[in-house]
Amino acid sequence: MTLFPEMFEGVFGASILGKAKEKGIVSLEAVNFRQYANNKHNTVDDYPYGGGGGMVLKPEPVFAAVEDLQSDPGIKPRVILMCPQGETFTQQKAEELSKEKHLVLICGHYEGYDERIREHLVTDELSIGDYVLTGGEIPAMTVIDSVVRLLPGVLGNETSAVTDSYSTGLLEHPHYTRPPEFRGWSVPDILVSGHHAKIDAWRREQSLLRTLERRPDLLETAELTAKEKKWLASLPKRDDAEQQ
Ligand code: SAM
Repeated sequence: MTLFPEMFEGVFGASILGKAKEKGIVSLEAVNFRQYANNKHNTVDDYPYGGGGGMVLKPEPVFAAVEDLQSDPGIKPRVILMCPQGETFTQQKAEELSKEKHLVLICGHYEGYDERIREHLVTDELSIGDYVLTGGEIPAMTVIDSVVRLLPGVLGNETSAVTDSYSTGLLEHPHYTRPPEFRGWSVPDILVSGHHAKIDAWRREQSLLRTLERRPDLLETAELTAKEKKWLASLPKRDDAEQQ
């Protein structure tokens, strides 16, 4: 739900989302909640009580838009407010949302929302990170894209989500393609060896190393074998390695 449905046209129509729509795996609709404004000027925002800059989205059109959808007894959606103060969106959240049948994402604009929307209408508040955008449209597109690509049948084998960063609890291993040598930089021999078990072992090792280097916090919750934990513990600590 947005005041700028035209912003979604490109994203809903192109690439993997466009194909998922075409295949009938997902149905996506950008609803303009201005059409639910209950005044003759179609006003959806107003000055904040108590003064201060910016305009605040009024509760009536947002409640009316969501309640219109909920009036269909078959539709019991999660109602998600896009909001920089919300829970930070993660791959785990995308996986959780991909199991829902219906999702409503409310995109704010201007200074923000009337607090009663947050308190009495929504089931979740999601932020895409600790920074502020002009509106909730780009955050909503981010959530929609990452949820839809997890739906069965959306990604072909060529772009499987199973080994993606965060899905496994780790960062993904590096990738290489042809040519085997580019400007004197070669592809690791193991990847052209044709030995699948060794390639899998190399990828797992690279994934662990990359996670250790870039996001060691993920290793605290990732599923690791005893052997992997021992191996990681035996590696020089980052600070030691930098000093050498
Ligand atoms: N005054 C608000 C505050 O300080 O929390 C920020 C309002 S922001 C300019 C307008 C709208 O953009 C928000 O209501 C929200 O829908 C959206 N938005 C901005 N940053 C966001 C983020 N990081 N994640 C999700 N939504 C965001």
